[in-house]
Amino acid sequence: MGKAAAVGTAVVVAAAVGVAVVLARQRRRRELELVEGAAAERKRKVAAVIEDVEHALSTPTALLRGISDAMVSEMERGLRGDIHAMLKMLITYVDNLPTGNEEGLFYALDLGGTNFRVLRVQLGGRERRVVRQQYDEVSIPPHLMVGTSMELFDFIAAALSKFVDTEDNGLHLPEGRQRELGFTFSFPVNQTSISSGTLIKWTKGFSINDAVGQDIVSELSKAMERQGLDMKVTALVNDTVGTLAGGRYADNDVVAAIILGTGTNAAYVEHANAIPKWTGLLPRSGNMVINTEWGSFKSDKLPLSEYDKAMDFESLNPGEQIYEKMISGMYLGEIVRRILLKLAHDAALFGDVVPPKLEQPFVLRTPDMSAMHHDSSHDLKTVGAKLKDIVGVADTSLEVRYITSHICDIVAERGARLAAAGIYGILKKLGRDKLPGDGSKMPRTVIALDGGLYEHYKKFSSCLESTLTDLLGDAVASSVVTKLANDGSGIGAALLAASHSQYAEID
Ligand code: ADP
Ligand code: MG
Repeated sequence: MGKAAAVGTAVVVAAAVGVAVVLARQRRRRELELVEGAAAERKRKVAAVIEDVEHALSTPTALLRGISDAMVSEMERGLRGDIHAMLKMLITYVDNLPTGNEEGLFYALDLGGTNFRVLRVQLGGRERRVVRQQYDEVSIPPHLMVGTSMELFDFIAAALSKFVDTEDNGLHLPEGRQRELGFTFSFPVNQTSISSGTLIKWTKGFSINDAVGQDIVSELSKAMERQGLDMKVTALVNDTVGTLAGGRYADNDVVAAIILGTGTNAAYVEHANAIPKWTGLLPRSGNMVINTEWGSFKSDKLPLSEYDKAMDFESLNPGEQIYEKMISGMYLGEIVRRILLKLAHDAALFGDVVPPKLEQPFVLRTPDMSAMHHDSSHDLKTVGAKLKDIVGVADTSLEVRYITSHICDIVAERGARLAAAGIYGILKKLGRDKLPGDGSKMPRTVIALDGGLYEHYKKFSSCLESTLTDLLGDAVASSVVTKLANDGSGIGAALLAASHSQYAEID
């Protein structure tokens, strides 16, 4: 090849290379633009969904006030016996809350889940208080939860009898006296006296047909007799009423108890004159404990989102327990899952495919939600680990983790604020929501709270407390105290057995 030809070829090659480079650069820029466009589009969609969620789940203070007012009117309807009232306002026949003067040995039995507990306390009166307390926990074999009434109660009575046999010298039952028991039975009951009530229906996995409509205390008493155990049931209560009694024993200013656990409920001390005359009940002490069953509260003021509606529709009890479904531990994680699923579907939050695990109802439990929400590490390590374990997405960006944490925040905050609105409603019903008109000092008012959600989900409980302060205003809030009544319901039932003792009149 001649020199000129070689130069010419080189020029052509160089030109071709130059063109190719330019083309490649242009293609890369276009690809980049596409990728950036897609990312921007995804970001826009994510932001739009989050904005919708924030709006649908928002609970401005004015709305909370409206919800409290609706709660108060449903409480009044329930007390009047209106069958359409959203709150059942069940009369508990507990008109004698423990005072602190109780003395003697008392037993309690707590049935309401997969475990039941037996407990005994030696009460030493005003000065010595709870001298000794012992308990035992027994799990119920699953086949007994769906068998016959006799089998279940025989099993319970046998465990109780075994527990009684372990009484030692430190425990005293006065000569000639029968042992007495408070029975915490956390299922729907039609109470007929302090120590009797018929079972309306089973919940929480129990299904024993021949017990429905029966008097639960007489079922237990017959079983104790069959076991040769001489013991009298002097109080039949649910966990909320038990917590109220335990709370009152510890602090005389307790006026209400709230359970925030798997479910939610509230009980409070009502003035006797609020109990309608037709009930024929004239409470001895001028007060009566009311079991509100507030979980069933419903109002068009409640911020019910598309996520709540779909969860309710697919639940075992559609249309029921609407307030509970927005607040309690059984549901909060599930609401978060539904929102994340929407973000996955509509905004490809976890990439182009929706993680199959995220489609599974109730995979995200409230304790996991709480763990993610409390993650304060700079890279949200716990959120990343939970998303990997639960949703099955191994590598999540910091942005995805922040979004997840933010969703937890929105859902927990709504639940806590709605619960605070309910407590504010009870305080309104009691006239403890404002300073006394006559200029006298605001009485100290204590709310006992119990349940795993309140106890362990700190961001939930602190939001509940600050919202209550906000609703009450600083002046009133300074007289209102919220107190964890840790596991007060077990000892509460024993205390109620004492304050409703068959020997109480004699002492
Ligand atoms: P129950 O209400 O069944 O009688 P608990 O009062 O112990 O029992 O409450 C248990 C519920 O509390 C759980 O179902 C769960 O929803 C909630 N919970 C427990 N631990 C936590 C936690 N660490 N964070 C948030 N919620 C929790
Ligand atoms: Mg409980």
